[in-house]
Amino acid sequence: MNDRTVSPQTASDQAASDQAASDQAASDQAASDQTASDQTVSDQTVPAAVDVRREPADPGASRRPILSLVPLVFRHPALVVLTILSGLLSHGFGVASAALGAWLVGEAVTGASPADALTTPVVLLLATVVAAALARWWQMWVAHDLAYRLLADLRIRLFDGLERRAPGYLLGRRTGDLAGTVMADVETTEWFYAHTVLDYVVAALVAVGATGVLFVFHPMPALAVAVFLILLATVPVWLARQADAQGRRLREELGVLGAEVVDGVQGLRELVTFGRGTDYLHRLGERTRALQRRQLAYGRRAGLEQAATDALVAGGLTTVLVLAASLVAQGDLPMAMLPAVVVLAVSAFGPVIEVTGTARSLGQIRAASQRIFAVTRQRAQVVDRSAEPPDGPLSPHVEFDGVSFTYTEDRPPALSDCTFEIRPGETVALVGHSGAGKSTCAHLLMRFWDVNGGAVRIGGADLRDLPQSHVRDLVSVVPQDVYLFNRSVMENIRLGRPEATDEEVREAARQARVDEFAAGLPNGYDTLCGERGAQLSGGQRQRIAIARALVRDSPVLILDEAVSNLDAENEEALQAAIRNVRHGRTTLLIAHRLSTIRSADRIIVLRQGRVAEEGTHDELAGTSGEYRRLLAHQTGGIVDVGDD
Ligand code: ADP
Ligand code: MG
Repeated sequence: MNDRTVSPQTASDQAASDQAASDQAASDQAASDQTASDQTVSDQTVPAAVDVRREPADPGASRRPILSLVPLVFRHPALVVLTILSGLLSHGFGVASAALGAWLVGEAVTGASPADALTTPVVLLLATVVAAALARWWQMWVAHDLAYRLLADLRIRLFDGLERRAPGYLLGRRTGDLAGTVMADVETTEWFYAHTVLDYVVAALVAVGATGVLFVFHPMPALAVAVFLILLATVPVWLARQADAQGRRLREELGVLGAEVVDGVQGLRELVTFGRGTDYLHRLGERTRALQRRQLAYGRRAGLEQAATDALVAGGLTTVLVLAASLVAQGDLPMAMLPAVVVLAVSAFGPVIEVTGTARSLGQIRAASQRIFAVTRQRAQVVDRSAEPPDGPLSPHVEFDGVSFTYTEDRPPALSDCTFEIRPGETVALVGHSGAGKSTCAHLLMRFWDVNGGAVRIGGADLRDLPQSHVRDLVSVVPQDVYLFNRSVMENIRLGRPEATDEEVREAARQARVDEFAAGLPNGYDTLCGERGAQLSGGQRQRIAIARALVRDSPVLILDEAVSNLDAENEEALQAAIRNVRHGRTTLLIAHRLSTIRSADRIIVLRQGRVAEEGTHDELAGTSGEYRRLLAHQTGGIVDVGDD
């Protein structure tokens, strides 16, 4: 059982502060995060974008995370039975071989039996030793088979939880931290599944069994063993509060470090070009030292548990030895029985010592499972009222009717009483300063969130009455920063509609002007895009996104124009692609360039979540309103003026 790694068993002088913090930290994660002085911990555990009002914390997940891990085990009942059975067999044969050996020694030393009568027991002893080893190997096999299946289940659940909450939750959490939960936190539960939960069952059965057999020899040593076993079982409980608080801080710090590393790797180019590499390493060093401090605090407490366990085991065995010896002296116990009694006592303690070893990891397991369940138990951001799609096809007529929407209670509304429509086939450009609510309109039209007041309708149907999957069929989006997977250009386009034929994908690529640059790529359409599409330019990525929207062929389109500057050739190709994808679709255009804005049928100017003005470019440019001011602000086009 040495493949489990328990954190370092070393001490540190962080003790006092950790102890002081642990009391308050043990109560409620959210509360402690707000009060904790460590800024980094708080800003990664409470996602800013999550609306606490709409999703009360799940009390079950935060208070009993370890118990919540247990039910998962019963998804594989056969493996559970096999794990317990193999555990019992392995310990049973172990105890049997030890007891048999001890009995043989007793017989040989006292000369109670003739030597040739011992041949069969010796053969039996050899057989039990081999059987114990085989059973042990089998136990490890099935326990890990079970554990890794459960880990896979957990990862799938996690991803499912993330998907349900996207994108609101993701906006508030760091990628590396989430990846840490999916990988490292899930991996930590391996201790629990492979070395803890069923081992506890086996340890309890073996301890009770060995004590029972001991009782047959003589009740006194059995009683002593029972008392010390009970004391041993309480050791992890004494330090549980501290263990939990320390475990949580340790896992959080691991999450922060992971996020920091992912951040640095993703931003490597920026770090190098701006010469900030040393700064970054410095930051990383600081976080590593913070992690070390937490590991030391954790290890010091684990060391204390280890010492207490060792002391109790030593005390228990000494007591049994003294008791048994005096019983032999008084003639209450045959001398030949003495070794067997001692071996049985050791056997009773053995599996319990093993599980107290894993109990020292419970603090970390608890924290890890808490972080996992914080994601999996997220309530869905948007809940479908019905799973039924509408009877007939809906006309691609978009209406925002008195829409108000607030992301979080502590912020002003992002949209208030916002009313406009986009008629079938029309292109409406949304313009306005940064923070005016343009992206929010797009989010609501995709039903990433539901409105707080008013309604968003497509073809007269309130989006809240349409299943989310149906809304995704109706509306497609070309986002500002396109995410490309590290797959071929072809596959990245096909993401829009997986069942599209090669012919359809190629046609979309042609219309989106992807073919122009795809031909020049090393393997044409089969060229890998690189992670996040690193192999391609911004304009090329946008054209792939447009091709995606074209294959998807949904009647309503949201086009979030990239703000980044493009070279003239890219600009021309992109504008052509945009013209092609808009053709025949109802389009909501979040526009930043004057050329794109002018090409819209109508322009809606948003200011602080309300429609300030509405009309064509010529109409609006002639007035002295917001649009004019926005125009005046520009050089060469309306750009998002950044956070004001
Ligand atoms: P625009 O796209 O016009 O720049 P947004 O729709 O993104 O504006 O933002 C409107 C307002 O809502 C801003 O005040 C912004 O800070 C806020 N906001 C946007 N997204 C979120 C979010 N995920 N959580 C909380 N507030 C948000
Ligand atoms: Mg925006």
